[in-house]
Amino acid sequence: MKEGCIFCKIVQGEISAEMIYEDDKSIVFKDINPQAPVHLLVVPKTHIEASTDGFTSYDAELLGSLFFAAEKAAEISGVKNTGFRLIINTGPDSGQEVPHLHIHLLGGKKLGRLVGD
Ligand code: 5GP
Ligand code: ZN
Repeated sequence: MKEGCIFCKIVQGEISAEMIYEDDKSIVFKDINPQAPVHLLVVPKTHIEASTDGFTSYDAELLGSLFFAAEKAAEISGVKNTGFRLIINTGPDSGQEVPHLHIHLLGGKKLGRLVGD
């Protein structure tokens, strides 16, 4: 856990969030500022800063579990069959705001262009 990290606080229950799915390694909750009818955040329970820090082989299992959690959350949210998009913002050019690694899961409508302006 990292002091002052919003997502670590959500993992620990210090800040509430609308939970969709949880397992031993990950949580999935609704984004507070949704950009699509379904906009979820898939978050590892441990604080991984951002993929620019470089992943270790230890992280491989955890990273795999995030995609498993994303698929579960897509199923629970009803977008598994209609389709969805997963996005990981990394570093300044991506506009990343929260430095705790997370995957955005977006769906529930036909999504626009992959890359914004
Ligand atoms: P980033 O820009 O870092 O990829 O995405 C961070 C996301 O976290 C944003 O979409 C933002 O709306 C969401 N977010 C920031 N603070 C909170 C919070 O306290 N609760 C929830 N549920 N989402 C948050
Ligand atoms: Zn954190």
